[in-house]
Amino acid sequence: MDQYRVFGNPIKQSRSPFIHQKFAEQTNELLNYQSEYVELGAFELAVRQLIKIGGKGANVTAPFKEEAMTLCDHLSERAKLAGAVNTLSFKDGCIWGDTTDGDGLVNDLLANKVALLGKRILLLGAGGAAKGVILPLLEKNPAKLVVANRTVSKAENIVEQYPGKPISSCSFEEVAEQAFDVIINATSAGLNGQALPISEHVIQPNVTCYDMTYGKELTPFLQIAKKRNAAKLIDGLGMLVGQAAVSFNIWRNIQPDEKKVLTLLRKEMSV
Ligand code: NDP
Repeated sequence: MDQYRVFGNPIKQSRSPFIHQKFAEQTNELLNYQSEYVELGAFELAVRQLIKIGGKGANVTAPFKEEAMTLCDHLSERAKLAGAVNTLSFKDGCIWGDTTDGDGLVNDLLANKVALLGKRILLLGAGGAAKGVILPLLEKNPAKLVVANRTVSKAENIVEQYPGKPISSCSFEEVAEQAFDVIINATSAGLNGQALPISEHVIQPNVTCYDMTYGKELTPFLQIAKKRNAAKLIDGLGMLVGQAAVSFNIWRNIQPDEKKVLTLLRKEMSV
């Protein structure tokens, strides 16, 4: 049976095996997808071992997305720009790297009927997740995309990669002086109960608030967005299923039904 893995540290919390198992059932694809905990410093070994047993591909999650790039013989343009890889494919004796997080986010925004064309988007964070979504967001021709980060230099470095595009960087403080249609939280603030890094007043009633994090309860960012009467509150579970669907398609050349699996996953998470 074709073997796939998701490598991470930690990895116990990963929903990817559930998602890919459901995709496989749906599409009648015969495959085995498991999560694998990888010690820091042992990522390359884990990848080589999977290749040795005839593995066909792997997803990569924190903290190995950047390291995964260095192992690839071929990288997609979007992975090069993102500086990170979340999908490895092993074929023709080579390692191919791609990133599907951005498509996962944009597809989820569109599925939730969030318009991006001509809109003012604020992206909070400049880590791996933020970097991966910038190109697909810019491809939707927003009026502007502002990247705000605690460490402003990281946001500035990202912006430099997109000359001529309507993208700029700023600090969290500077965000308060601007108006937005869509705010995307790509920081890990909130995961451990830390406060929202922006003034609450930037969340106006017409704004869509998207949090890449997700959980059983409303995330801290979405709780504030709710209190501020934001137009739409969306968590990152749809993005998770969406990026998995793009990976599945890369490996198996078949598009699974994301919506059905998202419904199953929400049900599974609610118990
Ligand atoms: P990284 O560690 O690469 O980046 C973390 C980001 O969060 C940085 O911009 C960092 O700022 C910022 N940050 C961390 N703590 C704080 C804080 N207390 N206040 C303000 N900013 C803070 O993580 P990732 O980019 O990989 O992941 C970010 C989030 O996105 C995570 O919650 C992850 O679970 C989620 N994610 C969801 C996906 C999905 O499919 N739904 C896919 C990928 C990620 P600084 O640069 O200053 O340190």
